Amino acid sequence: MINVEKLIMEAELLATEYFKEIEKIALANQKKVLEAFRKNRVSAMHFHGSTGYGYDDIGRDTLQRVFADIFDTEAAIVSPLITSGTHALTIALFGICRPGDCILSVTGKPYDTLDEVINGKNNGSLKEFNVDFSQIEMSDGKLDYVEIKKEIIKLKPKIVFLQRSRGYSLRDALSLEEIKRVSEIIKKQSPNSIFMVDNCYGEFVCESEPTSVGADLIVGSFIKNPGGGIAPTGGYLAGKKSVIDLVASRFTSPSIGTEVGSFINGYLPFYQGLFLAPTTVSNALKSSILAGYAFQALGYETLPSLSKKPSDIIRSIRFNTKKELIDFVQAIQYVSPVDSYVTPEPWDMPGYTDQVIMAAGTFVQGASIELSADSPIKEPYVGYLQGALTYEHGKLAVTEALKRIVK
Ligand SMILES: *Cc1c(COP(=O)(O)O)cnc(C)c1O
Repeated sequence: MINVEKLIMEAELLATEYFKEIEKIALANQKKVLEAFRKNRVSAMHFHGSTGYGYDDIGRDTLQRVFADIFDTEAAIVSPLITSGTHALTIALFGICRPGDCILSVTGKPYDTLDEVINGKNNGSLKEFNVDFSQIEMSDGKLDYVEIKKEIIKLKPKIVFLQRSRGYSLRDALSLEEIKRVSEIIKKQSPNSIFMVDNCYGEFVCESEPTSVGADLIVGSFIKNPGGGIAPTGGYLAGKKSVIDLVASRFTSPSIGTEVGSFINGYLPFYQGLFLAPTTVSNALKSSILAGYAFQALGYETLPSLSKKPSDIIRSIRFNTKKELIDFVQAIQYVSPVDSYVTPEPWDMPGYTDQVIMAAGTFVQGASIELSADSPIKEPYVGYLQGALTYEHGKLAVTEALKRIVK
């Protein structure tokens, strides 16, 4: 009989040096966030809500400037009116592209919820607006730089699209070094192409963001990393001013851009969430690393590899059977603060091809910066674990999951 408590203690010991590295990154990011707050003179008046058109909404405008500073960009759109990451990505693709343009993904098929955005029929997809899409497959989790260069020269795409995080594929998130290399190819071979990065799950994982290594636009969700577990909804886009202006026309209207947009509840949770985000992300990363060492000790294949720095907060674990995968997800639900008495089962989700099982006992519905697990039900049976507002929660969850699986 395996002693799970002992196994967790050993995993934690192995993770000591790794944890120190993560704390160092969190410290650097906390400093960056505070500097942006100071520079933009954030004060209580920025937390108030607005109504109607939201003209001169200083809470909104200042939040956008804070964001742009943290992410090393000229401009940003940050809004509770962006419903999700998918919505933010959609605004970007439609805002930038014109009929006849082409989007080239260098990371294979984008996230599942973009399928219909790109290729849908009779739903207002990019395809119906005559925007072409092509993709370069990754092999063995690596970018194919030769093919990327060839296709960029051939297509001169309007957008070169890169998904930093793994999504639902068994690969690692891309490092900033890899993202930089793609950027260099673009700048050399097709300088008019816009380099757009789906940055979901990547914020504050490293000391800088893709925009510091050449991305023209990054996009993400507030119920993931940058919301710090506090923001109740929303999304962001940050990048070059010329690109943000294009996106702003689509986000609201070409005539009003980002001059409008009110939020009666105010912006306190967005500022506070952003302030907490570096620590929240570090708690999530530590939980992911602990899970990595613990499941590896039991012989499971897991990513990211423990011999390198992570580039997103996700831990993938490859289970032997569908039952193990389901047991794992149910364990995570059981240790959640909300709906712990519920037993999740696989079901059909809008925007996803396969059935999906999800543990999402979160305060904010669907927030995956909070401890959560999900997986499409298909072979190989890979479970994706992410989030944890506190490391203690992550640790208890990994312990429960191990107990159920070794049984
Ligand atoms: C979560 C996610 C999305 C979509 O975000 P939603 O908020 O779920 O719509 C897109 N891309 C990646 C890589 C993601 O992780």
